Amino acid sequence: MSEGVVHLNGELVPAEEAAVSVHDRGLRYGDGAFETLRAYGGRVFAWEAHAARLERTCETLGFADAVPSAATLQDRVLATLEANDLADAYVRVTITRGEQAGKLTPAPDPAPTVIVVARSLPRGGLAGDPVWDEPAVLQTVRTRRIPDAAIPADAKTLNYLNGILARLELQRAATDEFAADEAVMRDGEDTVLEGATSNLFVVDGGRLLTPSAELDLLPGITREIVLELAREEDFPVETGRFGLDTLRDADEAFLTNTTWEVRPVGVVDGIDLERGPITSLLRRRYAERVEAACYED
Ligand code: PMP
Repeated sequence: MSEGVVHLNGELVPAEEAAVSVHDRGLRYGDGAFETLRAYGGRVFAWEAHAARLERTCETLGFADAVPSAATLQDRVLATLEANDLADAYVRVTITRGEQAGKLTPAPDPAPTVIVVARSLPRGGLAGDPVWDEPAVLQTVRTRRIPDAAIPADAKTLNYLNGILARLELQRAATDEFAADEAVMRDGEDTVLEGATSNLFVVDGGRLLTPSAELDLLPGITREIVLELAREEDFPVETGRFGLDTLRDADEAFLTNTTWEVRPVGVVDGIDLERGPITSLLRRRYAERVEAACYED
């Protein structure tokens, strides 16, 4: 991966020279927040929603007051894109609580570490290409989603062990014939929640169904846009609670996240799903939204 120049604590630095302390709490404890962003045509898509979620996560972690403003962060993102001569890109903003002596209890007056990295992705929008090659292959994992009561589910923290353990299960179960690329994660009651890094939708009996944001999941920004697009199309939308049978028997299913956008699901637990018209329609509407927001004057 080429990450020519990165933005570290307010400075543009060649990636190979960028260094953070071994005492950084992001490294020691996963004590931090992040956002994955998509830049199209040199503009950051849905910046306000990402900036708001980042701020909420930093509030949950109790260091929001020490973090640069959303406007400053946006300037750093744009500067990173420019320094790397990137228009269509993946961008990640990472904010840790910073360097502190080795105690679990956070010290007062944190000095957060703020990192922006970017790398090239294909053009998006109507003339664009998806970042994935194939529809997703899903497999249900035994690893359960961390309950909201343990770590607030709507906080996008640096601690991704839950998702990593789920993806490890997929790797361990892979054979020459079958390899899943996203995990279906449930709560302790077998309610379907989300993927390791994506939200999940099914088309079932003429309605679009996705797990409710009241459940223990990260309500993605792409999920919210897709719900809005479906409502604009007057397609019946329901958020609620459903189990594996609904997913496996779905007419169509798809995943959403910032980089995948709307990614059709081809297989769930070895069962083939049709690639259907509602998924295609929503993919197109999403591409139109990106085109209008980022590529038009
Ligand atoms: N759920 C989880 C656990 C995720 O990590 C992500 C990716 N951030 C999503 C859902 C999708 O979120 P978004 O659409 O904001 O990228």
